[in-house]
Amino acid sequence: MTEFSLSLNEDQTTVRDWIHGFALNVMRPVAQEWDEREETPWPVIEEAAKVGIYSLDFFANAMADPTGMTMVLVLEELSWGDAGLCMAIMGSTLAMAAIMANGTPEQVGEWIPACFGSPGDVKVAAFGVSEPDAGSDVSSLRTRAVYHEATDEWVLNGTKTWITNGGIADVHVVVASVDPALGSRGQASFVIPEGTPGLRMGQKFKKMGIRASHTAEVVLEDCRIPGRCLLGGKDRLDERLSHAREGVKTSGQAAMATFEATRPFVGAQAVGIARAAYEYALDYAKERRQFDRAIIENQAIAFKLSDMKTRTDAARLLVWRAAWMAATRQPFLNGEGSQSKLFASETAVHVTEEAIQILGGYGYVRDYPVERWHRDSKIYTIFEGTSEIQRLVIARAISGVRIR
Ligand SMILES: Cc1cc2nc3c(=O)[nH]c(=O)nc-3n(C[C@H](O)[C@H](O)[C@H](O)COP(=O)(O)OP(=O)(O)OC[C@H]3O[C@@H](n4cnc5c(N)ncnc54)[C@H](O)[C@@H]3O)c2cc1C
Repeated sequence: MTEFSLSLNEDQTTVRDWIHGFALNVMRPVAQEWDEREETPWPVIEEAAKVGIYSLDFFANAMADPTGMTMVLVLEELSWGDAGLCMAIMGSTLAMAAIMANGTPEQVGEWIPACFGSPGDVKVAAFGVSEPDAGSDVSSLRTRAVYHEATDEWVLNGTKTWITNGGIADVHVVVASVDPALGSRGQASFVIPEGTPGLRMGQKFKKMGIRASHTAEVVLEDCRIPGRCLLGGKDRLDERLSHAREGVKTSGQAAMATFEATRPFVGAQAVGIARAAYEYALDYAKERRQFDRAIIENQAIAFKLSDMKTRTDAARLLVWRAAWMAATRQPFLNGEGSQSKLFASETAVHVTEEAIQILGGYGYVRDYPVERWHRDSKIYTIFEGTSEIQRLVIARAISGVRIR
């Protein structure tokens, strides 16, 4: 097994420094503009594609690092650049991960390149699970998929909500119920190709933060897709459904392991925001003078910065541990993936709020970036499993008790 190490190798530092340059020179200068515009930042995604960041190859190589470190380093740097732009660049990877996890080799080959397009003609992808009445409780999805054998087609009906890139994506992957009586075991994932009649964007949400990332409803009305768009294929689905009907215990553990493995990626983005706010506040506290001395000379301010730095570093260590455990396929016996996401996201909210306090009135206005970072940070305690759901996972893992 690859040993855990805190010293990064040359490949890792090279990638990290390259991404840092992109974050500093491409993302930071336009971050405020895209936050205000609240639109998908196509030119930034194009630039990321041109330099080789927004591409299947880049993400596949980053994911192939046996230590698990490269992807979390990349995410911390992109999010340090700007969390909304980072999400605009990374949003497609949710669909990519779903296709990789569930698709046949042919489906992976057909659909994953379509998630990204190519430099000069970039595309984005969306992954839709959440519904108006099914957020944390994904077992209660109402979107239905019905198979029509005569035409070998699936017909989907339902509404997905809060979907990153929803309605503007070339590839939508949606999770729908095939047999509602079976709860989450009766669900399957489907690819809906670009231009399929019956898929339309509903409401586009106006958000508190990560406003450069597009979030919208996706409405499916008699949306007909060919049989080959069922990820994993019909035989595998039929086998899974018959196991579920017979009460055979199957992939619950596998699904949980997949969620745990992707949580450090969310945590790494939160660490990036926390670090940005800490660095900014530290510089500011050394410059800003009140009562004839720099405000950092007051313990009240210096101690805040001590705590901000300590918490951010602790969050990063949890993220790195979980990323390494995922890459080396170790069981998350104590919910280590959830620990990383929970602690990093709550750290980002805390650290960015403290940064506002250190900047005083300047922290509260849009001329300075810290209020944006605070707005951006909050989503990390909500999406991809709320803080409460992370605590539930950890509590169940450490206790073995079915805590509710
Ligand atoms: C900007 C943004 C982007 C998103 N992108 C996507 C996307 O691309 N694809 C997608 O499918 N979804 C996406 N989501 C949806 C996101 O994953 C959900 O919002 C999240 O899972 C929470 O669901 P909910 O909003 O319905 O809250 P609810 O599940 O209704 O929760 C409300 C509150 O109750 C608490 N709660 C619920 N159940 C329990 C429990 N058992 N124990 C204790 N507390 C509980 C929650 O923690 C929360 O505090 C996105 C959301 C946002 C805001």
